[in-house]
Amino acid sequence: MTRKPLVAGNWKMNFDHLEATYFVQKLAWLLRDARFDARRCEVALMPPFTAIRSVQVLVEADRLDLSYGAQAVSVTTQGAFTGDVSADMLSSLGCSYVIVGHSERRRYHPEDDANIVDQVRGVLAAGMHPILCVGESFEERREGIALDFAVGQVSDVTRDLSDEQAANILVAYEPVWAIGSGLVATPDSAQEAARAIREHLRGTFDDHVAASVRILYGGSVTSRNARELIDEPDVDGFLVGGASLDADEFAAIARIVEKSTRKGSGRTGR
Ligand code: PEP
Repeated sequence: MTRKPLVAGNWKMNFDHLEATYFVQKLAWLLRDARFDARRCEVALMPPFTAIRSVQVLVEADRLDLSYGAQAVSVTTQGAFTGDVSADMLSSLGCSYVIVGHSERRRYHPEDDANIVDQVRGVLAAGMHPILCVGESFEERREGIALDFAVGQVSDVTRDLSDEQAANILVAYEPVWAIGSGLVATPDSAQEAARAIREHLRGTFDDHVAASVRILYGGSVTSRNARELIDEPDVDGFLVGGASLDADEFAAIARIVEKSTRKGSGRTGR
């Protein structure tokens, strides 16, 4: 079994539906021009809610090899929850992924572990894949508890999932100090965290789960640091913030990841 790498762009609160349309057209052109092989690397976009429908229309009309998803989801399914968007609504727009537990959501919204568990369950129940974000802050790093902290976050959210549910999640290891800061984890420390998370999954679920769950790295990824990071055997791609707003840069990162699979990465389900 081999894990297909994923390069996912988290646009955050950027791009209205017109800008999103322009971006998708440019990205599709850049990837086509580079003879990008989508069988080797999946590319996904996570637009704001208001642009998802525009992305869907383009992907379907032009049969683009692009996945897409949302950046957040309600824990409730329907009813009097002003401003919320349900997992079923996202699924009916063709979303494959939903980012869950991003550090910016944990910080600016009342999203604690219990709420994040409910989001994960809601996303899975609607047939989509949660991308569960975990990662230590600068304080935890300084205290030397970075790995325990990130693994603990995975454990807190996944411990009651079945093997089948766990096999459908992705984990993004995103050290908070690296997000939007220009500081990036070294390949060694990204690998160490990804391996610790995978070992935790192996200890909790059956071997198939540990071997198949994709673990992404996120935090100031650019085309300048992507090559070294993707060479690490447990790093299965990237969640990209700032650099995903520039189509040339985002396409360059996707191409680096796609090329790494041609060399034969160690990214197999061991
Ligand atoms: C993110 O917000 O998920 C992220 C990784 O941001 P950036 O790439 O800008 O650090």
